[in-house]
Amino acid sequence: MENSLLNGHPKFMGYITSSPAPIGVLADLLAATINPNVGAQILSPVATEIEKQTIQWLAEFIGVSPAYGGILVSGGNMANFTGFLAARTAKAPKGIKEKGVSNATNQLTVYCSDTTHTWVEKAVILFGLGTDSVRWIPSDEQNKMRIDLLEKTISKDLKNGCTPMIIIGTAGDVSTGSVDNLEEIARVSKKYNSWFHIDGAYGVPAAIVPKYKALFKGIEDADSIALDPHKWLYSPLEAGCALVKNPQHLIDTFSSHPEYYNFSDNDHNFYEFGLQNSRGFRALKVWLALKQIGKNGYTQMINEDIDLAKMLFDAAENHPEMKAETHNLSIAAFRYYPEENLSEDYLNILNEQLLNVLQKGGELFVSNAVIKGKYCLRACIVNFRTSEKDIHEMIEIIVKEGKKLHNSLKK
Ligand SMILES: *Cc1c(COP(=O)(O)O)cnc(C)c1O
Repeated sequence: MENSLLNGHPKFMGYITSSPAPIGVLADLLAATINPNVGAQILSPVATEIEKQTIQWLAEFIGVSPAYGGILVSGGNMANFTGFLAARTAKAPKGIKEKGVSNATNQLTVYCSDTTHTWVEKAVILFGLGTDSVRWIPSDEQNKMRIDLLEKTISKDLKNGCTPMIIIGTAGDVSTGSVDNLEEIARVSKKYNSWFHIDGAYGVPAAIVPKYKALFKGIEDADSIALDPHKWLYSPLEAGCALVKNPQHLIDTFSSHPEYYNFSDNDHNFYEFGLQNSRGFRALKVWLALKQIGKNGYTQMINEDIDLAKMLFDAAENHPEMKAETHNLSIAAFRYYPEENLSEDYLNILNEQLLNVLQKGGELFVSNAVIKGKYCLRACIVNFRTSEKDIHEMIEIIVKEGKKLHNSLKK
């Protein structure tokens, strides 16, 4: 205990790691005790049903058709990989499974904004497309993908004989929480017959809050969506979810029938929907939290996190020694900015060093974002324990430590 980071603390706002919901902690204990293997229905009859229902609830929860199917995985990376592989099966030339990517007649290309999470790099390296296949589309001043440049790039690639396999929209980017224009990406994906994937690992649960719903317009057109219950649904690690509009694409990608499996054709065997074979009962902690907290409870808690991030942004904006940079969803980015006329280089060094002081200080935990060249402190509040009092105390701590550091650096 003494040597842990203790990220359930009300002033923990680093990266995107939540305070764990107590019912989820109990659920993991219970799941480990029963120990069902949720790879096959015959090994986990009730756990399989609970996972199926959890997936359906998550789909309804974020406002897409309950006909979406999918699978629970360890986190956002794995959920995105699952969608990516389904896209590869669906959009690559026929025979990809037999002949492999190197024999695809056209180069398969991938489109995402330059703020997209690093999972894309892992995916193209691991799944044979290579990093040259990624078109990092520049983002605008709000960190959203430039749709005009997306279309321009696709047209050029088509002329060069490429197959635009997948377009990835981000719903809540890691650094600033901004949501791409999903409706426009859906339109472009249809036009070019590409797979439309949404990386909503962090942000998609905000779609349940009525006043933010419009931000996510277009989500119902996604061929696949990644979301992370271990982020904004406060599930203890690990829990991610891949949702796929037509779950048959998952079976086409992952299913196999070795003779040593005595499973009935009518069974819902999760090993046929994803990368894992033996699987734990991670659905229980997500399912129990959904039952305990419900849509209203989540709406309230998520909304509160967003309000607190806005409060932090405003407090930074109004403080004479700070500057607020961005606020979207529950992420606020800001800088310690002790006086005017300091160089950008100095401000970057000051804030980077301040971050290290704060992280080692043990009073609060924030992380960093580099936004258009500016090194910022960044707080992501996915924490039902954080209160207004914490926000005000944080500002005091940051300014106190910032002042000390600035005075020592000036000498
Ligand atoms: C966190 C995150 C990921 C990676 O998810 P893990 O659960 O850490 O694997 C991917 N994309 C986005 C947008 C994220 O916020």
